[in-house]
Amino acid sequence: MIATASIIAAIATLGAIGTASTLMLRIAETKSRELTEKIDIITLIDDLLPQTQCGECGHMGCKPYAAAIAQGEAINRCPPGGDATIAALANLLDKPIAPLDGIAKPDRVAFIREAECIGCTKCIQACPVDAIVGAAKLMHTVIADECTGCDLCLEPCPVDCIDMLPIERAPQPAHYRMRFIAHNARIEREARERELQRSERANRIEKKVEAQAAAEKLAAAEPASPAVKSRQDEIRAAIARAKAKKSAVRIQPPIDTTGNDNAH
Ligand code: SF4
Ligand code: SF4
Ligand code: SF4
Repeated sequence: MIATASIIAAIATLGAIGTASTLMLRIAETKSRELTEKIDIITLIDDLLPQTQCGECGHMGCKPYAAAIAQGEAINRCPPGGDATIAALANLLDKPIAPLDGIAKPDRVAFIREAECIGCTKCIQACPVDAIVGAAKLMHTVIADECTGCDLCLEPCPVDCIDMLPIERAPQPAHYRMRFIAHNARIEREARERELQRSERANRIEKKVEAQAAAEKLAAAEPASPAVKSRQDEIRAAIARAKAKKSAVRIQPPIDTTGNDNAH
């Protein structure tokens, strides 16, 4: 009777565990589906943004703004996209069209007045799509086809030699996005390489210090050979003689230079 009750209890426990597992699996599946849907909607929103990566929406690029829109942020904060982007986003998200929050920006391209450029490289560091070529102390130039017209190189230029010129061209958001991804990958790779070099240099120094300490320890522990010992004894004796001589000189009475004869 007791055995039957135990079996029933065990079956009930197993059943409860099974139900709980199924429930957890369903929750995990739902969360994963929600996450996938969220990622999908971010991608769909991002596809409608101009990809200049200018940051005028208040985000560090178009993808972060897409993620913010997916979380409920307003759809009217992209000046390069203007009304066309707002309309596309409103259509995708089934939201009302709102007026642009900012001033619409026509397409433009950066142009460096090369004669005035001092080659400081600050614009290169600011460009999110690596559209500027040049080297330190040499004049720089913009690859017009790669420039998104984001304006980000203007502010850092210390001699104000960059103009933004209006341009008529077909939008190429996919190309800009690809350039931006490549730019970020380069920055990350360079940071990793710098970190690797720094750690290799630190390791080399550490090994050198350790080797030096080990050599000093060994030298202190090793008994000197008879020849070296005899030489050390000679040096010690010479130092002692020199010290004794020096003390003897120091205790000599002063020489009387007055000419007085004090003997009487
Ligand atoms: S292009 Fe628009 S979405 Fe992209 S960073 Fe600039 S303002 Fe933001
Ligand atoms: S060259 Fe200047 S305006 Fe053109 S993409 Fe680079 S930072 Fe932006
Ligand atoms: S920031 Fe201005 S001065 Fe410096 S390299 Fe670029 S264009 Fe030349």
